[in-house]
This record gives sequence, structure tokens and C-alpha cells, in this order.
Amino acid sequence: MTGRLYGVGLGPGDPSLMTLRAAEVIGEADVVAYHSARHGRSLARTIAAKHIREDHIEELLMYPITVETTDHPGGYRGALDDFYEEAAARLAAHLDAGRTVAVLAEGDPLFYGSYQHMHKRLAHRYPTEVVPGVTSVSAAAARLGEPLCEAEETLTIIPGTLPEDELTARLAAADSAVVMKLGRTFPTVRRALERAGRLDDARYVERATMAGERTGELASVDPQSVPYFSVAVLPSRVDTGPAVREEGSGEVVVVGTGPAGAPWLTPESRGALAGADDLVGYTTYLDRVPARPGQRRHGSDNKVESERAEFALDLARKGRRVAVVSGGDPGVFAMATAVLEVAAQEPYADVPVRVLPGVTAANAAAARAGAPLGHDYATISLSDRLKPWEVIAERLRAACAADLVLALYNPGSRSRTWQVAKARELLLEHRAPDTPVVVARDVGGPEESVRVLRLADLEPSEVDMRTILLIGSSQTQAVARADGSTVTWTPRRYPEA
Ligand code: SAH
Repeated sequence: MTGRLYGVGLGPGDPSLMTLRAAEVIGEADVVAYHSARHGRSLARTIAAKHIREDHIEELLMYPITVETTDHPGGYRGALDDFYEEAAARLAAHLDAGRTVAVLAEGDPLFYGSYQHMHKRLAHRYPTEVVPGVTSVSAAAARLGEPLCEAEETLTIIPGTLPEDELTARLAAADSAVVMKLGRTFPTVRRALERAGRLDDARYVERATMAGERTGELASVDPQSVPYFSVAVLPSRVDTGPAVREEGSGEVVVVGTGPAGAPWLTPESRGALAGADDLVGYTTYLDRVPARPGQRRHGSDNKVESERAEFALDLARKGRRVAVVSGGDPGVFAMATAVLEVAAQEPYADVPVRVLPGVTAANAAAARAGAPLGHDYATISLSDRLKPWEVIAERLRAACAADLVLALYNPGSRSRTWQVAKARELLLEHRAPDTPVVVARDVGGPEESVRVLRLADLEPSEVDMRTILLIGSSQTQAVARADGSTVTWTPRRYPEA
């Protein structure tokens, strides 16, 4: 009979935060194993010290190199793999001899723990049990004494060893977050928090529940003083909204949700929506944004954009953080221009306005159909609500003369029915009837349909407000694939004139 393998979580540092099961398992084990860096000290052993007896066989698994960052040169991986193999073999020898082995792990064994390397090598060969432990995440939140995540908030756990841009994007999109593995990474993490606009929310916890514990505002921590055993925490934002904000700190952020919903919302936009006190926009787009306690929503129809812009700027002037919400990209036939137009007027000169980019419908539709926008193209709205049809017709002719691919937004609606037929007539004067056309409706949404057909077969009655049309140039290709679909692309090479 072989022995049993245990991965034993010991909690964050205070021995009284060990579980009863952890103590029981150590008590029954023949072998107690733990990892250490080259200095030979083991935090795990220190936590469990009271439960380790004279007759326990102790196995110190000493890393040959320091593991506190991952930016080591090549060879690091190989050296570690050899170490894990050798360590696993040592434990396997005990297990084969029928001895029960408890591998100690600070915090929880399956949460960024060294135990996992043993688990992956041994758990399929020997009966194994993992004893969960209190993680540093829970310990840090407890020490701060602030709610960590509530209601629909999502907790993001981020290793501080990630590159700065990746940290920034993750933090910008996060509700609550905990950044682990600080130490040397601290200056990078601090910059990322600042770039994500979250530095003021960030807390710092060092050695939670251990001797030498320290907590405070992260912004005021001396980077030189930060050890590896520390975390950054962005606590829950529920109920910590506008009340704590100073006068004059309001702003308007113009955000695009992307063509449909969550998967195409950029991390930056997601963060801006979550961090806003007020959301202003056309109800259809606001409905794509999950509700948050404490946040006010001001839905409207999609008619008078300047009124919505003025409303948003007025709120910001009173110190509120306002997100104006558009679909797609906010700068493409959407709210960004209206906000900037109004903001240019005297009373709003001091109100900060930012525009965040989003995925526009043309790009989403093009990707679904292949790469029809791979070469030069023109973006034109067929709506004659804000410009005369003659201007539209003239632009279509000019774009055709230049052999540009066309992305046609707002092609038609219940009240605008003739524009597509007129546009097709005009296009056919310049382009072959076989020209590929992508008819993309509700891209990314529940009723998505993307079809590639010939310009001559474009049926105006099949086009509505949720449709975008991509009209090929003389060079655009459409090719049937083995699975029955059609892909289109526009080559990047243009034939010599
Ligand atoms: N700011 C938006 C465009 C607003 S104009 C953007 O960048 O995408 C509204 C038009 O966008 C619609 O009439 C339609 O032509 C197009 N559109 C927006 N979302 C779409 C989607 N999911 N699928 C197809 N077309 C879409």
C-alpha cells in the first residue's frame, strides 16, 4: 500500500488561521515537506511549527534559484523543471514506502502555490487530498476591514509580474481587484494603477496577519519598502460613489459599447462605465450596461443629441463623473461630436471631456465576412436626417470614382425606405453587378446575420436600422469555402494604373 499525499493550506500567516483539518492532517502524516528559497527559511514551516513533532520526517524542498519574479533569462524554466522533478521523486519515494506525506503551503495550496507542481506530478499516481486554506486575498480584505466584492461586482486577481500594459488593462476593466506578488513589481503596479485611474482607490496590505503587518493607502507607500508578501487591493465600489468626490472633479467620458455587447467592450470602456456616477444615452445602448447600485441612469430616445450632451455636461459641471454611452465607436455617427460641440460653448470650457475608442460596426461586420476593408475604404451614413440626400449621392459617386470600398451606416429604417434602392441604382452605374456586398445585421447580437451577395441582388427591403452594408471595390474578392460559407477580402496590392 502506498502512502497518501496531502497538499495542506496553512492560511495567510497567523497559525490560528489554520483549519482544524490542516492540523489533523499534519498530525497524522509521517513526512512533512515544505518549499523554501535558497536562504532555507520556510514561512509555511513557521506557521505550522506547533504541529510538527520530533518524529516527523522533514523534507526541505529548496529552490535552486529565486522565484520572486518571472523575468529571469532563458534557462530559468529548465532549472525549475529539473527541481520539481527531483522534488517529486523524493516525495514519491516516501509514498512508495507507504508513508503519508503532507506538503505544507502558505495560504491555499492551489492558489499560486508551489504545491501545485508536486500535485501535477503525483496526484494521478497516489491517493491525494487537498486541504484548502485562507488565502492572502481574504486575509488582506479582512485586515482592511472593507467590503471586497458585493452584488454583481467581479473580483479580479492579478499577478503583479504581468507587463505594465496588461496590468493597466486588467485594472481599468476591474471592479474589485487584488494584485499579488508586489515586491520588485511595485513601481510598475503603481504606474498601472495610476494609468487606469484607480490609484486613489488602491489600498496596500503587507504581511497580512503576520508579525510586521502594515496596511494603508497604496499611493503613500514608499516603493523601496515593499516586500514580496504584500498585495494591492481595490475594494468594492458599491456605496462609495459620488459622496466622497470633491467639487470640480467631474468629467464627461464618451464611451462606445461596441457593436453589440460585452465581448466587444474594451477594458478601458468597461472601467469607465463602472466608474461613472451617471450614465447618459439612448436606452438601447444603456441596456447593454449592467446596472450598478448607486449609479444613476438617464435613458432617452436617440433624437436630440445636443440636449443629451448638454445634460451630461451640466452634471459634470456639478462634480459628477458622467459616461455618455453610444453603440460601436462613439466617434462614428454617434455622441462624441455632439458632446464636443456643446462643450465648446462658454459655460462648459472647464469641463474635462474624454472620448474612448470602441469597436465600430464596420470593423465587426468586416471581420465576420473576412477582410473586405483590407484596403482603402470610405465610411458614409445613408441617413438624410442631418444632411441632404444630394450630398450623400455626391459622396457615393466620388467614392465610386475613386474605387473605394464603402461602409454604409444607417442604410435605412422604418421611416427611411428608399435610400438603399437609390444608392444601389447609383452604385450600379459605377460598379459591376457581381461586386460583392456584405449585408450584416445585428452583428454580435442574438439575431446576427451576415450574408455576402452580388450588388445586383441587394434587396432594399431586407435592410433595416441594425444593418450595415459593405460594398466591394473593383478588387474585392468573394470565394466560397468548403463549409458552404463565403469569405470576402480586398487585396492590399492594387494593380498598376
Ligand atoms: N457609433 C456606431 C454607429 C452608429 S450609427 C458604430 O461605431 O458602430 C448606427 C448604424 O450603425 C446602424 O444603422 C448600422 O448601420 C450600424 N450598426 C451598429 N451596430 C451594428 C451591428 N451590431 N450590426 C450591424 N450594423 C450595426
